[in-house]
Amino acid sequence: MLTASASGLSRREALQLASALVVSGMPTHARKTVLVAGGGIAGLSCAWELQRRGHDVTVLEASDRTGGHVYTFRSGLDDGLYADAGAEQFTDPGYERFWGYVHEFGLAYRYYPRREHMLRWLGGRLCTEEMLADPKVLAGLDLNAREITYLQTHPFWDLASLYFAPYLSNVTDEYKPFDAGLNHLDGMSTSELFRKDGASAGALRLIGGRGSALHSVWHAAILRLRGVPLWPPRVFRLVGGNQTLTDTLTHKLGERVRLHSPVTHIEQGSGVRVTCQTSGRDVHHEADYLVSAMSAVQLRRVVMTPALTEAKAYAIQHVPYYFDSRVIFQTASRYWQRDGVSPNMEIGDDALQHVWSSCDELPTPRGLIVGTAGPGGTTDLAAATYRKHYPGRSAAIEKAHIWTWANHPWASACETTAYPVGQLARLWPALSEPHGRVHFVGAYADNLNWGMEAGTRSAHRVAEAIDALA
Ligand SMILES: Cc1cc2nc3c(=O)[nH]c(=O)nc-3n(C[C@H](O)[C@H](O)[C@H](O)COP(=O)(O)OP(=O)(O)OC[C@H]3O[C@@H](n4cnc5c(N)ncnc54)[C@H](O)[C@@H]3O)c2cc1C
Repeated sequence: MLTASASGLSRREALQLASALVVSGMPTHARKTVLVAGGGIAGLSCAWELQRRGHDVTVLEASDRTGGHVYTFRSGLDDGLYADAGAEQFTDPGYERFWGYVHEFGLAYRYYPRREHMLRWLGGRLCTEEMLADPKVLAGLDLNAREITYLQTHPFWDLASLYFAPYLSNVTDEYKPFDAGLNHLDGMSTSELFRKDGASAGALRLIGGRGSALHSVWHAAILRLRGVPLWPPRVFRLVGGNQTLTDTLTHKLGERVRLHSPVTHIEQGSGVRVTCQTSGRDVHHEADYLVSAMSAVQLRRVVMTPALTEAKAYAIQHVPYYFDSRVIFQTASRYWQRDGVSPNMEIGDDALQHVWSSCDELPTPRGLIVGTAGPGGTTDLAAATYRKHYPGRSAAIEKAHIWTWANHPWASACETTAYPVGQLARLWPALSEPHGRVHFVGAYADNLNWGMEAGTRSAHRVAEAIDALA
């Protein structure tokens, strides 16, 4: 059995440092030792925020790399092509914390035209944006007169705003969905709410949902408060892959990051003591606090002593996730340019939900088509589905890869998804609340389920909270 302290300082040295800070006029929050369990974007950014506030951090990452769901795939691709197998985009407006790092570290970023000139497979054919503004086409999709009129002045993707609009101004604090006088909406689904408010059968097919109406209204209200559209058409990516950010944070944290350190047991009393299974041995780490930065799905496997409260355990156990796969086609040419068609398609099939092109900055005649499939997707099914829907002459796919997150031992779950009817009060705010000396960050631990946004926001919130503790 090995014991390692997360702190490089003795208590005496820490006290000397604290008095030196008082003399220098710097912030005097006591220096703490903090373990961070999980080296995805949430864990790395929380560790970085704690370290720059003068605390002593150690990141314990289970796998052989940091970044978690921020993962830039390159293997087997030619000419320097790469694809983000997990988080592929960030928005502007939105993602303020993420953008803060992009600017602070001088990372190159690029506008990502993957939501321009969308082709949507609807009613058995591919529809352009122009078609989806045409009242005749919209009537053919079973939309009613009010919806068709709305879509004369709003983009197709904004249809749900017609039904969210009457409720949004009730939410004034984006972290307090229950202060909006709308709690009864948790007792119905989004489809039931929209149907009650006059939505057509066609609209329900397009924008309905079985999750809690209060959850979806809250989600839309958060975006409104942040000035972000419901489906932001302007998105961005980091040049060289979004993993550039997690790699940069890892580099800056240096030896504070320990790979191959899966946390199996978290004990707390006057401090925290963590057990990791490293190289088949139990290795122990001690610190003042612990930040859990793994997904809720992974956290379900970790033993906590004392156990989580009933409310917290329920929330961790039941928060729903989706499990998607990333499809990557290397193509012999950028044939969509030759064909004069948009590479951006929403197909809506589990074999291939949507596709777009990437790596347009690379000096190669080859192209890259990136897409998303369900957890059971395969390269053959995805390629067949793509060829069936691609509206140009022929698709010259040279190589096809699929990255199946559901098979990943430590990062299987993607993002959280719509909470079931009647569950919002059982999941929120419990998911984001600390358990004694254990704090929680990650894509599931913030109010909006947009992965890197929620990861970096929750990281800042927790770093500030730990910093402020006496
Ligand atoms: C296909 C796909 C597309 C996506 N698209 C986007 C997008 O465009 N934009 C966006 O913002 N988000 C997107 N996301 C979501 C986003 O990638 C994730 O939500 C986000 O990266 C999660 O970050 P995290 O740090 O909370 O968790 P994770 O990335 O899951 O990191 C957790 C880390 O903890 C480690 N770990 C797990 N268990 C243990 C343990 N017991 N001990 C120690 N370490 C452990 C894991 O190995 C991992 O490194 C997408 C996700 C997927 C899968």
